[in-house]
Amino acid sequence: MSLAAMQVLVKRNEDGIAAVKAALSARFGERCLTSAAVCEQHGHTTTWLPNQAPDVVVFAQTTEEVAEIVRLCAQHKVPVIPFGTGSSLEGHVNAPGGGVSIDLSRMNSILEVNAEDLDCVVQAGVTRSQLNAYIRDTGLFFPIDPGADASIGGMAATRASGTNAVRYGTMKDVVLGLTVVTADGRIIRTGGRARKSSAGYDLTRLFVGSEGTLGVITEVTLRLFGQPEAISGGVCPFPDVESACNAVIMTIQSGIPVARIELLDKMQVRACNAYSKLDLEETPTLFLEFHGTASGVKEQAELFEAIAADCGGGTFLWSALAEERTKLWTARHNAYFAAQGLRPGSKAVSTDVCVPISRLAECVAETVADIERRGLLAPIVGHVGDGNFHTLVLVDVNDPKELAESEAFIEQMNWRAIEMGGTCTGEHGVGQGKMKYLKKEHGDALDVMRTLKIALDPDNIMNPGKIVLV
Ligand SMILES: Cc1cc2nc3c(=O)[nH]c(=O)nc-3n(C[C@H](O)[C@H](O)[C@H](O)COP(=O)(O)OP(=O)(O)OC[C@H]3O[C@@H](n4cnc5c(N)ncnc54)[C@H](O)[C@@H]3O)c2cc1C
Repeated sequence: MSLAAMQVLVKRNEDGIAAVKAALSARFGERCLTSAAVCEQHGHTTTWLPNQAPDVVVFAQTTEEVAEIVRLCAQHKVPVIPFGTGSSLEGHVNAPGGGVSIDLSRMNSILEVNAEDLDCVVQAGVTRSQLNAYIRDTGLFFPIDPGADASIGGMAATRASGTNAVRYGTMKDVVLGLTVVTADGRIIRTGGRARKSSAGYDLTRLFVGSEGTLGVITEVTLRLFGQPEAISGGVCPFPDVESACNAVIMTIQSGIPVARIELLDKMQVRACNAYSKLDLEETPTLFLEFHGTASGVKEQAELFEAIAADCGGGTFLWSALAEERTKLWTARHNAYFAAQGLRPGSKAVSTDVCVPISRLAECVAETVADIERRGLLAPIVGHVGDGNFHTLVLVDVNDPKELAESEAFIEQMNWRAIEMGGTCTGEHGVGQGKMKYLKKEHGDALDVMRTLKIALDPDNIMNPGKIVLV
C-alpha cells in the first residue's frame, strides 16, 4: 500500500480549464491566483491523502460573483471546489480533476443579528470565533465549536459539531436557512427564519453536509443561544477508558443535561500536559462542563460526581471560575496540536466514528486494544456524550509496514462502528477518505444519494470525486 494508491482520480478537461482560467483572470484580476503555492494550499493539507491542487483560486466577495464563476464553470464543464478555511480532514478540498477553488474567506460579513429572535444571518466565510466575538455583547452565543476556527459555510457543508453538541446539537440543528448557488449558477434560498416549517422538501438539510458537491453556500441563517447564567466544569480521572465511558453512558441515560463531556485517553492527557502546561494525572480523563443557574450547575456536578464514583472514577475536581475553565478548554481545543507533539515529523491522521451511546465503552475499549496490538501511536479524544470519538494516528509515512498497519487500523475502526449500528463519521464528513465505507453504512440509500447528485449536478462539476462517484 502506498499513499499514491489512496488517490481518487477524476478525468481532467484541459481545454475547459484553460478557457475558464483565462476568463477568470481577465474578470477578477488580482483576486484570481494561479501560483503553485496558493493552489497547493487550497488542495488538501491536513492528512496523509496526497494533495491534489486546483488550477486556479478565486476570492469571491458576493453571492453574485459566486454565481458568475459557477456559470462559467458550468458552461465549460470545469470542476468547482468551494473553500472555507481548508480545515476539513478527509481530503474534502482536493481537486482530483483540477478546476476552480472558490475561496469564500472574503465573504466575511455578519449581515443581521436578530437578538430578540435568537438568530443571525452571516456570509459563508465568517468564522465561528468571529461570530462569537461579534455577538458577545448581546448576551447570545453560537455553540458549534470544531477544534479549528472553521468558516460557517464550511461547517454547514460538513455538518460539523464539536464539544457542545451533546447539549446544543450539530450544524444540522442550528442552520435555519441558506443562500446557495446551484450547479447551473442559479441563486436559491432554502428555509428561512421561522423555527419550524412544513413547506415542502427540506432543502436546507440536503445542502447541510453536502460538502460542496451540490452547490456553493454563500449565506447562512443560524440559531443563537442565550449565554448561560452560570457555568461550572472540571475534570475527572478514571482507571481505564471503559470505566470513563461507562460514566458517560450513565450520565446521558440519567438525563443530566451536560453541556460538554469529553474523553481524553492517557496518551492524550500526557500530550496536553506537555503542550498546554497542565498537571493532570496521566490516566483516562473526562472533561465536563455544565450550563444553567448557579444551583442547577451545582446539582448537575454533584449528580455526575456520584455516577463517577460508582464507575470507579477518582476525585472530580470542578470549579465555577472562568479562568480555570478557559485553561482546560483551550487545552482541549488544542488537543490535535498537542498530540502531534508526541511524535514530531510524523503525519497526524485524524479519523472519527460515532456509535449509539450504549455501545460506546465497548467500541472505545476495542479500539484501544487494537492500537496496542498493532503497536501504533494513536491518542484518543472524543465528544463522548454523543458516542463520538476520534483517534489521531501519528504515522511515519515513509515506513510502508507502519503505513499499512495504520490504514488497516483505521479501516477496522470504521467497520466496527458501522457494525455497532453507528457511522463512519460523526462530524468530519466523507470527503475522499470515507467514501469506501458508505455502501456498507447506507446500502441502497447510497444509490439514491447518487441519483440526487446527478439530478442537481448533471455534469458533475461540483466538488467531483467526493461522497459519491458518478
Ligand atoms: C485541529 C482540528 C480540529 C477539528 N475539530 C473538529 C471538531 O471538533 N468537529 C468537527 O466537526 N470538525 C472538526 N475539524 C474538521 C473541520 O474543522 C470541519 O470539518 C470544518 O467544518 C471545516 O470547515 P472549513 O471552513 O475549514 O471548510 P473547508 O475545509 O474549507 O471545506 C470543507 C468542505 O466543505 C466544502 N465547503 C466549504 N465551504 C463551503 C461553502 N461555502 N459552500 C459549500 N461547500 C463548502 C468544501 O468544498 C469541502 O468539501 C477539525 C479540524 C482540525 C484541523
